[in-house]
Amino acid sequence: MKQRLTVLGSTGSIGTNTLDVIRRNATQFEVFALSAATQVELMLAQCAEFQPRYAVMASEPHALLLKDALEANSLQTQVLKGRGALEDIASHPQVDAVMGAIVGAAGLSPCLAAAKAGKRLLLANKEALVVGGALFMETVRANACTLLPIDSEHSAIFQCLPEDRATWNERIDSLLLTASGGPFRQRDPATLSEITPAQACNHPNFSMGRKISVDSATMMNKALEVIEARWLFDVKPEKIKVVIHPQQIIHSMVQFKDASILAQLGTPDMRVPIACGMAWPERIESGVAPLDFTTLAGLTFEEADACRFPGLHLSWQALNAPEGTTAVLNAANEVAVAAFLMGQLRFDRIHAVNLATLEALVPTKPNSLEELLALDDEARSIAGAHLEKFSV
Ligand code: NAD
Ligand code: MG
Repeated sequence: MKQRLTVLGSTGSIGTNTLDVIRRNATQFEVFALSAATQVELMLAQCAEFQPRYAVMASEPHALLLKDALEANSLQTQVLKGRGALEDIASHPQVDAVMGAIVGAAGLSPCLAAAKAGKRLLLANKEALVVGGALFMETVRANACTLLPIDSEHSAIFQCLPEDRATWNERIDSLLLTASGGPFRQRDPATLSEITPAQACNHPNFSMGRKISVDSATMMNKALEVIEARWLFDVKPEKIKVVIHPQQIIHSMVQFKDASILAQLGTPDMRVPIACGMAWPERIESGVAPLDFTTLAGLTFEEADACRFPGLHLSWQALNAPEGTTAVLNAANEVAVAAFLMGQLRFDRIHAVNLATLEALVPTKPNSLEELLALDDEARSIAGAHLEKFSV
């Protein structure tokens, strides 16, 4: 029997890489449903190739455009729209696995629906965990959802950890997350104010969506990943460390009590962690060329400069604050990054908006999806008000 997949965010960088791995392993996997926000043309091409039962667009106008285009091409895929439909395709009884590759908090409700339905959940959408935190992991546990990390660092740690989860606490000293340092690792901090969206989206090793590219440039991506690791692996925040490794050959490491360190290595290409999650514990072709060690110039490591990357430390600060604070940080960052990408906020003021929002809103513990979404909304309006103060 083929595994049937729903790919949430199929038109994005992770989504298209996932479809590439499915294409290479078509005897084992098939697409049940796809989703996108606005990219009608690409969704039409994906429907023609993968023949999904459903395609979900974020809003009515794009759903109508897709419906017309599918009909014009005599394609049978049914078009749905909105949050409820995303939850439906993530939890449908005929779905085996769900790739969560929507960007931002918008991915939380369908990922949570997949967890509630006890699906195999391939999680790229780190913001869902940063927002959902404890509630997300409780849902995973209560419904026997198999949660497989797709973020390359977390996939690396997952592969290095002992299989028996019950032993982690006594065996593990720390988790070492590697970071590329992004395009501005060596830039004079005094010139960060001049950075344009095009420069920030020009990552040295990866071609990624625009939001995560900006997060990599500020290192807020690593801050979100520290929070993601805290929840995925149930470790204390102080046991998670970050080291800059510009070549991105080592994808992360686990340090044990005896000072032994296990690392996962490979060509930096997201199809590797995607294929790993899709097939786990088996292994399938990813389409990625293996590392050629004889051509590697060297592996280097350095400490993250707090002056250049002030946002990194907000992760530990938010994790040690009342529960829900990580959702506030995520919302502020989404608002600030969107404003930067629209030319309304200077690059070096993304941190100022995040910090001001954290200081303005101390949440009470959110106990449901609705409370999380309400907190997300509240944090977005506070961040929006701060934007005006800091905007260009
Ligand atoms: P992207 O911007 O390339 O794609 C995002 C996808 O989500 C698109 O299909 C888009 O149509 C859809 N989408 C956006 N907003 C939506 C909304 N409001 N409602 C419904 N759908 C929406 O992003 P990406 O780089 O593929 O990243 C996706 C997720 O994976 C992010 O959470 C990111 O942090 C994570 N991730 C990405 C990479 C990478 O290499 N790109 C690596 C690790 C983790
Ligand atoms: Mg990552």
